[in-house]
This record gives sequence, structure tokens and C-alpha cells, in this order.
Amino acid sequence: MRRISILGSTGSIGTQTLDVVRSNDDVTVAALTAGSNIDLLEKQIREFKPEMAALWDEYKAKELKLRLKDMAVRISYGMEGMLEAASIESADMTVTAVVGMIGILPTIAAIRAGKDIALANKETLVTAGHIIMSMAKAYNVKILPVDSEHSAIFQSLNGQDKKSLKRILLTASGGPFRGRSAKDLAKVTVEDALKHPNWVMGRKITVDSATMVNKGLEVIEAKWLFDVDLDQIQVVVHPQSVIHSAVEFADRGIIAQLGTPDMRLPIQYALFYPERRPLNTEPLDLFELGTMTFEAPDPVTFKGLGLAYKAAKAGGSMPTVFNAANERAVAMFLDRKIGFPDIANIIEFSMQMHQVIPEPSVEDILNTEAATYDFIESRW
Ligand code: NDP
Ligand code: MG
Repeated sequence: MRRISILGSTGSIGTQTLDVVRSNDDVTVAALTAGSNIDLLEKQIREFKPEMAALWDEYKAKELKLRLKDMAVRISYGMEGMLEAASIESADMTVTAVVGMIGILPTIAAIRAGKDIALANKETLVTAGHIIMSMAKAYNVKILPVDSEHSAIFQSLNGQDKKSLKRILLTASGGPFRGRSAKDLAKVTVEDALKHPNWVMGRKITVDSATMVNKGLEVIEAKWLFDVDLDQIQVVVHPQSVIHSAVEFADRGIIAQLGTPDMRLPIQYALFYPERRPLNTEPLDLFELGTMTFEAPDPVTFKGLGLAYKAAKAGGSMPTVFNAANERAVAMFLDRKIGFPDIANIIEFSMQMHQVIPEPSVEDILNTEAATYDFIESRW
């Protein structure tokens, strides 16, 4: 019997994780957390009966407590609530499905408590990868990727000697604006950016896919997860999103993982690793697919991808600036305060103004995040 905690249970990854729980009768839920979606969290608590649950919003947490008077569930709120959920005694795995750097402290708490991590929250690895990966080693916990590309890499590497890994081929759909020019992107709207061709995801990651900042975050995520150099990671635009990523070995043999786009596969694989369980999903029909195509990313139109490599090369606190500036800029874009190309411009400008802190501590990372927000606030 497996017992899990889910941070961000009301989101796209969170709800799909609960779908996986629904179809496997040997996994139970110890804790659930959400930001403010009280209605959905209440429903989830009634269905999955966790020991505790938390909302970020204190007032909503109080209301939730009242609504759940008839149930034996502890309700908490804020960061304290998330930390408690992340490290709850009875769970053996924490699924990190919150969006953004808010996931850093709970992920650290979960590792300290000896929980394996099913990691969707890539912003945590991008900003604190050096801390998370070395802690995971020290506490002997597994970091199992949920991101579809990283799961594909992980699945392709399975059983192979890591020393023979030559390259990672990280695939990207190219997002809704693939093939467009930088000039075209000046006019795109929030609605245009939220139309992803192949995946239905949370709003932030959908915008990140449109800017290709998501692929930049994933390059840094892959660097930490698989302990490779940046020049061993090649981004390949593959609009059909059928090859979820691939690895090339020393003998130039390439192993890839393919399938129809369905996040429940990488989620289920992380939950039950190394077992492969049946999944009720659409099988890939190669005849219907017919062709797969590949192209190089366009670095002029999608400046964010190049900025990610730049941030990763600079190292230290620079990936935090890259990520924090993006988080703030995407929120401003979704609020219609800035245009689409401003997202990459804000990231670039924030990076230019930053003095790198090498080997930043968690405190340095959180201070860098706050300083980046202040800087952006003062200029836009
Ligand atoms: P969503 O926006 O759909 O969900 C985010 C979750 O986090 C929700 O449960 C939300 O609660 C909660 N949350 C938001 N703000 C806070 C806060 N301040 N404090 C506590 N909880 C908060 O995101 P996704 O599921 O799309 O993405 C989650 C993570 O997974 C991201 O890091 C993303 O990059 C990564 N990922 C997602 C993929 C996908 O297919 N969606 C694919 C690969 C990676 P509420 O509902 O109450 O707002
Ligand atoms: Mg991905």
C-alpha cells in the first residue's frame, strides 16, 4: 500500500494525480493542499479522506473547516500548512504539483522527512537544483520526474549505464506560435497564448509553452535531474508531441519514449516506479499519425529559450532571476498589463541587472526572488 501527499491537488497535475489514485486501489491520500479553490478541495477531501488538508488562503481555510465539521480532517493554511502536508508522517511520497517557486520550502521539508518526491514543480529544481539534488542524495530519497519530457528521459535511461549517456534530445511542441515571426507576436492576446496545440495544462505553464520559456526551464530541470552538462541537452521542436523525449548513448543508439499526450502516464510511472501499470488511455496509432516532423527552435522569435541557457551558464542565483522574472511577467501578461513580447524583455532586463550569487542558500534564493519582484515593480 502506498500513501501520498499532493501539494496543489486542485490544479491540472493535481487532479490528474487523483485520477491515477482513483484507478489504483493500493494507493491512499494522506494530505491535500490548494491555493484558494475551496469548492474543489472540499470535494476532494470528501472523496479521498486525507488526514489533513491546507489552503494557502487563511480565511478560506477557516470556512473549509466549518464546511467539514462532519469529517475527521485537520485543516491548516499558509506555508505552515504546506510544510505539514509535505512532511506528514504517514505518507511515503509527496507529489509536488504547485506552480512556482512557492514549492521550494515544502519540497525541502518533504526530503528532510524522508519522502520520495514525484516532482512536477519544475520551478523548484530550476532555482534550487543544487540544494534539492544533494539533499535527496543525503536523505536517500528518490526524485521521480512527472514532467512528460523528463519522465520520457528517465524511462529511456532505465537500466542503462549512466556513463554511456551522450546526449538528451528534449522535445518541444513549439507551442501555439510555432512558425510565427517576432513581429507577429507583438499582437497576440492572452486567449491566443492559452491555446496550446497538444496539451491542456495550468495557465502559467501554458503561457510558458507559448514563449518557450517552459523549454528553457526544462533544460535546467534536465541538467539537475540527470546530472549532465548544458551542451549535452539539445532541444528538438517536434510539433506532434508523440516522442516525449529521447536519449542518445555512446554507441549513437537513441532510445525514446512515445505515446499519445496524456500526463497520467508520467504521473502513474512516478507513483509506482519501477512498475508499469495498465492505463486507460488512447493507444498511439502510428498509421493514423503517418508522419513525425522535427525542426530547430527559432531563437529570434523565442528569446526566452536562449535566456534560459544564459541563466544556466551564469549559474548561482541567475536561474532564480530568470524564473522569478518569468513568474511575475506571466502574471502581468495574464492580467493584461503587458504585451506578450514583454515577458522575455522583462526576463532579459532583470538578468542584466543582477549580480550573481554563487552557490546560493535557500535564503539567498528567496531574497533574489523578492529583489527581482521589487525591481520589476519599480520599472513596470
Ligand atoms: P495549475 O495552475 O493547474 O495548479 C496549481 C496548483 O497549485 C493548484 O492546486 C493551485 O491551487 C495551487 N496553488 C497556486 N498558488 C498557490 C499558492 N500560492 N499556495 C499554495 N498553492 C497554490 O498548475 P499545473 O498543474 O499546470 O502545474 C503545476 C506544476 O507542474 C508547475 O510547476 C508546472 O510547471 C508543472 N507541470 C505541469 C504540467 C501540466 O500538464 N499541467 C506538465 C509538466 C509540468 P488553486 O487551484 O486553489 O489555485
Ligand atoms: Mg514538459
